Amino acid sequence: MIPLDEAVEEVVSACRPLPATSLPVAEAFGHVLAEDVNAVDPVPPFANSAMDGYAVRAADVSGASVQSPARLRVIGTVAAGHAPTASVGVGEALRIMTGAVFPGGADAVAIVETTRVDGDHVLISAEARSGDHVRGAGDDIAAGTGVFAAGTVLGPGHVGVLCSIGREKIQAIPLPTIGVLSTGDELVEAGSPLLPGQIRDSNRRTLIALLARDGYSAVDLGIAPDDEADIERRLSLAAKTCDAILTSGGVSMGDFDYVKAVLDRIASMRWMQVAIRPAKPFAFGVLDEIPIFGLPGNPVSSMVSYELLARPGLRRIAGLRHELLRRRPVPGVADGSWRGAGDGRTTFVRVVAQFAGDGRLHAQAAGGQGSHQLHAMSLSNALAVVPPGAEISPGEAVDLLTLTP
Ligand code: AMP
Ligand code: MG
Repeated sequence: MIPLDEAVEEVVSACRPLPATSLPVAEAFGHVLAEDVNAVDPVPPFANSAMDGYAVRAADVSGASVQSPARLRVIGTVAAGHAPTASVGVGEALRIMTGAVFPGGADAVAIVETTRVDGDHVLISAEARSGDHVRGAGDDIAAGTGVFAAGTVLGPGHVGVLCSIGREKIQAIPLPTIGVLSTGDELVEAGSPLLPGQIRDSNRRTLIALLARDGYSAVDLGIAPDDEADIERRLSLAAKTCDAILTSGGVSMGDFDYVKAVLDRIASMRWMQVAIRPAKPFAFGVLDEIPIFGLPGNPVSSMVSYELLARPGLRRIAGLRHELLRRRPVPGVADGSWRGAGDGRTTFVRVVAQFAGDGRLHAQAAGGQGSHQLHAMSLSNALAVVPPGAEISPGEAVDLLTLTP
């Protein structure tokens, strides 16, 4: 057996980021930026009002109160998207809306809540300090500022900033396309009746859904029966169109593990027994320079193997920095008794983790912990990490890997 860290290292050191490409900002979400982005112009581009109200000279409303409001002559209105038609002189006010260009002459906004219209005048019942409710040009981003560095993972806010600085395209690492293959004579699609000995293929759809969760596209390579020629045909085809391949099944010690035979012939593979429970068998290698992940067939194992071993590699292909590849443990509290494995493997207990009244993240087993018990895995939102030989009792600290996107 090899330690999990060693297996992950093997994977991530063999996975290389895809070459950067020019992408429309409209498609940038979820990608890793491959250039340093600078703002040419300031954001906001002009001084504008932060509130609905009146642009005034602070000196003109000095001492104003409900008992003795300031009375200013209204010289017009400026709405967002329009240029002010006049500048504000002594004793004058310009009605202004949020986001509208702040006029010359004025230095503050008297918010509408403190004002009352009086014919062509306005009564202002509160003082304003110079600069109140005025957003200066470049308040958010000054012209010429470095906004995002290469390597930034673009979330929704980043996309908004790219729009606000006027970018239409960026250099980014493409999101990989991953082929997903199920293997096994026993597997049939949902919808087909089950003949004796058959089960429904759940791994393929699960893995495709995990890829969707992580922002990657999947190519459905179908179900290959335990037949070397069939498996080889599907894998060779996938290597031409995909950036990586996930297979499930056929990587353990069984007599009909034909994936193993095929991959040994056409790819350069390392067959591993990783010191984890579940998901001990795992294979990794390259086929025509495409990383290929041989995940175990048991449904829980294939999910756990994806989370712990394949996902870090795929994230590297998508260009994420090394520190961001693996899920990081967060401290939690065990709400159950868990015993670590006696054979040196780290156990990953499928748990439901939620914050309790003590402000700590409490973890409860989600159900049966067999590697075939996908139902419990489906209900879980975290894996509790139980070191080999450990005895964890209720109330004790336990590390959790939360399975968030
Ligand atoms: P294998 O690794 O091929 O020996 O499979 C281990 C176990 O996982 C067996 O019980 C298989 O029937 C089951 N299995 C393999 N592939 C799938 C799949 N795609 N969906 C559901 N169960 C599977
Ligand atoms: Mg099999």
